[in-house]
Order: sequence, then structure tokens, then C-alpha cells
Amino acid sequence: MRDFSRDTRWLSINTATIRKSRGVDLPLPDIIEACVRRGIRAISPWRDQVHAAGLATISQLVRTHGMELSGYCRGGMFPATDAAGLKAARDDNRRAIDEAAELRAPCVVLVVGGLPGALQGRAAHKDIALARSQVRDGIAEMLEYAKQAKMPLAIEPLHPMYAADRACVNTLEQALDLCDALDPGRTGALGVAVDVYHTWWDPKLEAQIARAGRERLLAFHVCDWLTPTTDLLNDRGMMGDGVIDIPRIRGWVEAQGFAGYSEVEIFSTGNWWQRPHEETLDTCIARHQSVV
Ligand code: ZN
Repeated sequence: MRDFSRDTRWLSINTATIRKSRGVDLPLPDIIEACVRRGIRAISPWRDQVHAAGLATISQLVRTHGMELSGYCRGGMFPATDAAGLKAARDDNRRAIDEAAELRAPCVVLVVGGLPGALQGRAAHKDIALARSQVRDGIAEMLEYAKQAKMPLAIEPLHPMYAADRACVNTLEQALDLCDALDPGRTGALGVAVDVYHTWWDPKLEAQIARAGRERLLAFHVCDWLTPTTDLLNDRGMMGDGVIDIPRIRGWVEAQGFAGYSEVEIFSTGNWWQRPHEETLDTCIARHQSVV
């Protein structure tokens, strides 16, 4: 296993982690500058943050500082109630691929969506099997476009508590079944993002990481699961503050040959987003070196 204790070579910051500083929105250029000042070499930005600052501006900043991306957040949200909705998702996902290519991201992370309307508080139906078939069809179609752009797609299985509103792909096994169906040749065009927050509880995790193998392991996300947890979305813990044995999972991933970034992704309305972002980043570095 790689030694993270001495530097930040393999630390990436998912920019949601410091999207707020002292409760106030922090623009993406400021986030990038703060990372650069600390020697952090990689980020994984969110599309809304990129759009707010301008794609050309961010692309230029990333290149000027020689930064890399560990992913681009995010594509997906495939299910819809009608043809127009499916087409809107398809078009938006193609734009995500184009943006990721401009930013030289290694992959577009897919949060695949759940029951249409559920995220807005009113699910249009209860047919999760239909949603899953639309996800499969949507990824298949997106994959054709992604291959032309040479942009890999990383399916991120989300914890089952999000099955209704954010992602009806909920285990690594389920994500890998999709990979095997849509990319049986293991070409590298389709893989998974393993986020310890979503997957740590899974009794099949070690076996499925081995099944994924190097070709399918495209991203590795870390934070921690707090007990008790107070919010299902925005109460993620700093590494070391919760119950996830992160080094064990990283060991499984690296045993397959994964040698990419360890991406810190923390959504924390009540705690880290209330602190100065400098403190949050410094803590990310310290914990990356000691408990990841
Ligand atoms: Zn993640």
C-alpha cells in the first residue's frame, strides 16, 4: 500500500468539501487557489461551480497551476417520465462529457438517478425496476458518445438510503453488473467510483473490489460515517471521525493496482462548511496523512 504519511501527492479535494467557508459560498477559483497554496495537486470539481466561474476560466486556471482532476462531478440522472425528459438527460450528459474533456478529467462520475420527481419531493411512480432499466439504457447511449470523446464513465453506487431520489444503483455488485453488460471487453471506457461513505457497510465489498479489478476502478472517494449521523446528505464526517476503516478499504483497492488519487468528498452543512475553508483543508491534509 502506498505511503500517504509524508506528503499530499495522492490527495485530491472534491470541491464540494469547501464549497462553503464560514457558511458562505466559496467560488471555485478561490478553492483552486487555496489548494495550490497547500501543494494539493488535484481536485474534482462540480459542474455548477464550473458553470458559475466559467468553463474557460477554470480550464485556464487548472492548466496554469498544472493541476489534475481526479474526476468530474457529475453526470447521470437518467430516469424520466417521458421522451423529452430522457432526451434532456442525454443532452446534458453529453455536455458533461464535453466539459470533462476540456478540463482533462480522467472520468465523468455518474450518479444515475432514481424515481423521476423524487428528488423534488414527488415521485412520479413506484417502479424502481423501470428506473433501473432507464439507467441501463441511458448509460449505454452515453457510453457511445463518451467513447468517441475518449472519456471514461465511472458509475458511483450510492448508499441504499438514496435509492428513491438520487441513485437506484446501490451496491458495487450492481454497478459492476452494468459494467459487464455494457462493456464486456473491459475496455476501460466504463468503470466505477468507490466511495467509502456509500460502500463501507457492504459485506461483499472486498470481493466486488477484486471483481472490479484495475480496469474498472476509476475513482476512490473518502470521508467518514458519523454515529449518530444527523442528515442523510450533508452530515458526512472528516476521515477519522467516524466508523469507516478507510485504510482497509484503500488496501483492497490498491491490491487491484489502483494507483490514483484519494479524493476527499465531504458535504457538511453543520460542521465543516461552517468553518474557515483553510481549517478544513489543513484538516483534510492531516487526516489524509494519518488515517487514510
Ligand atoms: Zn463520491
